[in-house]
Amino acid sequence: MSAVAGAGRSRPATPWSRRDVVRAVVGTGVGGGLIGLSWFFAAGRGRPGGQFLFVCLALAGAVLGVATVSEWLRTGRSAVRVWSWALLGDTGDTAATGVAPASSAAVVARLDGKWMHRSDCLLAQGRNWAPAPLAEHQAAGRRPCRASRPGAADGVSS
Ligand SMILES: [Zn+2]
Repeated sequence: MSAVAGAGRSRPATPWSRRDVVRAVVGTGVGGGLIGLSWFFAAGRGRPGGQFLFVCLALAGAVLGVATVSEWLRTGRSAVRVWSWALLGDTGDTAATGVAPASSAAVVARLDGKWMHRSDCLLAQGRNWAPAPLAEHQAAGRRPCRASRPGAADGVSS
């Protein structure tokens, strides 16, 4: 199993495909164009009723632009999530990363943090966080780190 296709998930070479780029350019272009044309055609019309159509078109352009940028961001975040899983791993596939998965039963967290980690998690190394019982972290409302998964069945029993 290669690092590129770890755990059966394909990992794109870039966050956005060529199709995403075209979609973003066309979506923001059309949205901006609608706003510009509406501005142009609404200019000089003194009565609100005459401007109503163009205000609606401008709003549609704004909605299109926001939707396009939102989709762009969502796609990028999705790619980053896939990459982080490939990097941090939840498969125990040490050949892909060269790093053994965290297995310590000691659970640590930043005092005001919202994530708890196994003490040997890469995200917790070098931070000098004092270990505490799992229940204490849970009572503080902390969620298990998705890379080291403290509290998961493997490792806590050891
Ligand atoms: Zn962790």
